Amino acid sequence: MGSIRIGGIEKFSIVDFPNQMAAVVFMQGCPWRCPFCHNAQLQDVNAETNIVWEKFIDFLRQRKGILDAVVFSGGEPLVQKGLKEAIVEVRGLGYKIGLHTGGYRPQYFMEILPLTDWVGFDIKAPLREERYKEITGGAAEVEKVKDSLKILCESGKHFECRTTCDPRFLSVDDIYEIANSLKTMGVKEYYLQKYRPIESDKNTSEGQCLVLIEDEKLNEYLRQNFEVFDVRK
Ligand code: SF4
Repeated sequence: MGSIRIGGIEKFSIVDFPNQMAAVVFMQGCPWRCPFCHNAQLQDVNAETNIVWEKFIDFLRQRKGILDAVVFSGGEPLVQKGLKEAIVEVRGLGYKIGLHTGGYRPQYFMEILPLTDWVGFDIKAPLREERYKEITGGAAEVEKVKDSLKILCESGKHFECRTTCDPRFLSVDDIYEIANSLKTMGVKEYYLQKYRPIESDKNTSEGQCLVLIEDEKLNEYLRQNFEVFDVRK
């Protein structure tokens, strides 16, 4: 098994893989630094963790017949050199595979994708270099994100795109721009996620957090332009 580092585990979830009862494994490490990140402790790929892969596999053996799926989340799962082998091992136990990713490594993503059953693909900002860099702490390369999304759209896999609507960085116009790009690329399913202020953000009010996701004109536009659209609060 190549290197695989686990930062956390959710033993039971019904919200991380549509219509499946899943365990979620949070991979340690993310190359991006989104200002709204609620998993900042997962960002450092070298941070200490005490969750051993083999123990997680033992847990999955015990849950066979109870859980349907395992979701590889993060952090950013594509950081892990051992991700492919890990997924193969979990598939071998009979589980469906979900993957949460921002698509930062398209070549690796292309290798992993055939082993997955569903992908949740994060869209952080309008698909332009300066905006993507702005919202990922200068780290993301938007062309790589677009390449990954193109691979996903052409794969025939079930997937969704979703955007966390942090009003400090995104405007209604930004969401229109994102939506138009996604529609052009062939995305069918799109979700807006409410921003929940991180601990250090004492200035963003509940009302501000709702501005984007409750914009009725925008909601109507998104309903008309995607086969599936919804807001997650
Ligand atoms: S991509 Fe996800 S884990 Fe990485 S910094 Fe952004 S929100 Fe946090």
